[in-house]
Amino acid sequence: MAKKNSKKIRKIKKNRSWISIIILILIYSLIGFLLFIFACMMISVFVQNKANSEYDSVRYLAHLYERSVKEGKQEDVYSQLTDSGRAFLIRDTDGNVIYQQGTATLGDQKYKLATDMFVENGDDIDIGLNYSDDMYLYEDSQDDYIDVEDGTIEPDFRALFDIITMSSVGKIEIDDNVSEEEKARIVKESINEAEKSTRGIMGDNTRSTLRLPFWVSVSVNEGKEEFIAKSYINFAMQDFAVFTIFLAAVGILGTVLFITMIINIIINIVSQRRVVKLLFTDMVTNGHNKTWFLYRGEQYLRKWKTARNNYAVVNLVFMKYRTYCMCHSVEQGQILLKKVYAVLGKELDKKEMLAHEMDSNYALLLKYDDIDRLKMRVQSIILQLEKVDLEHAFSFQAGVAPVGIAKNESGKIIRRKDFDLEVIYNNACTARETMSSSDESGVAFFDDKLVEDQRWEDTVTERQRFALEHEEFIVYYQPKYDPGTDKLRGAEALIRWQNEDMGFVPPGRFIPIFEKNGFITEIDHYMLEHVAKDQKAWLDKGYKCVPVSVNISRAHFIESDLAEQIRDIVDKAGTPHEYIELELTESAFFDDKNALITTIKKLKEYGFTVSMDDFGSGYSSLNSLKDMPLDVLKLDAEFFRGKAEGDRGEIVITEAIKLAKSLNMRTVAEGVEVKEQVDFLAKQGCDMIQGYYYAKPMPKDDYVERMKAE
Ligand code: C2E
Ligand code: MG
Ligand code: MG
Repeated sequence: MAKKNSKKIRKIKKNRSWISIIILILIYSLIGFLLFIFACMMISVFVQNKANSEYDSVRYLAHLYERSVKEGKQEDVYSQLTDSGRAFLIRDTDGNVIYQQGTATLGDQKYKLATDMFVENGDDIDIGLNYSDDMYLYEDSQDDYIDVEDGTIEPDFRALFDIITMSSVGKIEIDDNVSEEEKARIVKESINEAEKSTRGIMGDNTRSTLRLPFWVSVSVNEGKEEFIAKSYINFAMQDFAVFTIFLAAVGILGTVLFITMIINIIINIVSQRRVVKLLFTDMVTNGHNKTWFLYRGEQYLRKWKTARNNYAVVNLVFMKYRTYCMCHSVEQGQILLKKVYAVLGKELDKKEMLAHEMDSNYALLLKYDDIDRLKMRVQSIILQLEKVDLEHAFSFQAGVAPVGIAKNESGKIIRRKDFDLEVIYNNACTARETMSSSDESGVAFFDDKLVEDQRWEDTVTERQRFALEHEEFIVYYQPKYDPGTDKLRGAEALIRWQNEDMGFVPPGRFIPIFEKNGFITEIDHYMLEHVAKDQKAWLDKGYKCVPVSVNISRAHFIESDLAEQIRDIVDKAGTPHEYIELELTESAFFDDKNALITTIKKLKEYGFTVSMDDFGSGYSSLNSLKDMPLDVLKLDAEFFRGKAEGDRGEIVITEAIKLAKSLNMRTVAEGVEVKEQVDFLAKQGCDMIQGYYYAKPMPKDDYVERMKAE
């Protein structure tokens, strides 16, 4: 198969869905990664927020303690600190515990801790929390920890916490005249308010779903002591609500998108498969088509596993399929094609291939061991096919092109790497075409001779025009003698091709090709022109000229003005018409009979002699003798070849001569080589003999000598 075509097929077959799948995976990985980052950020912010709140509370307790120490009232503050409900401890720089509270710390004693929170700021008291930069979170005894260094707590978030706190209580102004007790009461109330609002925003511990404990250490009394309190980060369901809703929405959207994309990919895969199927499916038989055959077959034969086997490519043709369609219908014809396909399918082995090419052509790939057995197999397949419809007599022709085992220079079996199945299939078709002149069933093999023939045909076709223009075609003359008197009575002009490369080429090697490609009409003109010129020249020189016959191909007779063309050519040379005879091959009489009769009549009117060449060679029809007003009957050389079958051969010749005479026709016997034949023909009254006995076809000069000798 042509590389370009197989490339096209590979392109169509290529499944690009994996690109979509990779893109899908990439998109989803990216979305997942972004969501993960987002979730981490959310959790981090959330934890920092919570930790911040705890940190501020502990800072406040530490501040209370610090103030009480400054005021010398630390014994009073212990009960306040215990009231806070936190486990805590106070220790000095040497690690000695000054005071401790809570089971999770060092001792089991419990103290109450005041919940007052305030910061004095000049005359005003700001309700809120104060910070210090020396706070750390510690691992507790159960290894639950959150390791948040002080520096990582976002200042913004602290500010947010402040705003929350302040927004609910705000800055309060206390009159200077107010007593200390009243001042303390106002502050306490405000603190309570702040606490409430803070708890409301930061969540209620009792509804926590998750508690993460950690320890907060605050340096107090100018770094001489350390206030350490246990804190918790409480997570409640509602803390995650927005995030969960967001995640759910993203999840639903993502799933919908994912399903859509998957459906899209599946649709793509399915439609791509359909296209491939369509590319390889034959519409008539629903089986495989030629494209499939060439593409798959080539791939198959290139494989290692097939390298050791012989294969044969077959072009099988259902003869007269079109006639069947014409008499019945195209639909019926196609049903028949389907049946043939089914029969062929049954005849094949698993590793063999079958395709319906087009119309009545089928392509097969068969495996074989022995070429004779292969031939028998193909013949038996044809026998099976002939019975495809018992009401009709069908015929099938098969052209077979064997695919041999490939070997390298050292005789080792190699893979058929550069194998082109299309070329082999074409060879099978060429082999089949050698039988195309008949409609009978048959099998023809493609061999080297066929290749040679084909090459020769190409060479001839390629060079024909050049040869004509450069007068490479030479006229030979073969004299015709009277067997009674041995006198020269006529001659036949026979073409020869003299070429520098090809040498001397006899007409049998190129005339059939010219007949096929239509160049024969030009050759006939060429010959007629040369003969007419020669005759004119010889007449002018005073030679004793005799009529010379020129062969006119059957292909020429489709031209309605053929007689006029001949007349004009001869007239152009100035040759009297009686010196020109025209030979028509017998097969020409099977074409348009009426046109032929008209042309013959016209030629005779113009004064030319017309003869029927090769009478008795193939499709003799006595009828044509009846209808055609011919002057000469040329008995085919076959009558005189080989051993004459006793009297029977002689009887036929004798009767043919008699018949011609009765029809007022002269007779010429062709191919006469021996004296006995000459004597016999003379006795029977044959007018002329053209044969090697008298003379072979000869060049012009030799023929002139013969004329002169007369
Ligand atoms: P044809 O027209 O029947 O020519 C007679 C052929 O028989 C010639 O072959 C001639 O050489 C051969 N022949 C004659 N006597 C004998 C004999 O005693 N023994 C044998 N073995 N052969 C003999 P040639 O020249 O090879 O021509 C073959 C055919 O080619 C001719 O058959 C004719 O059909 C065709 N042909 C030749 N020249 C022309 C031409 O100029 N135009 C056309 N259209 N066809 C031509
Ligand atoms: Mg002839
Ligand atoms: Mg002849």
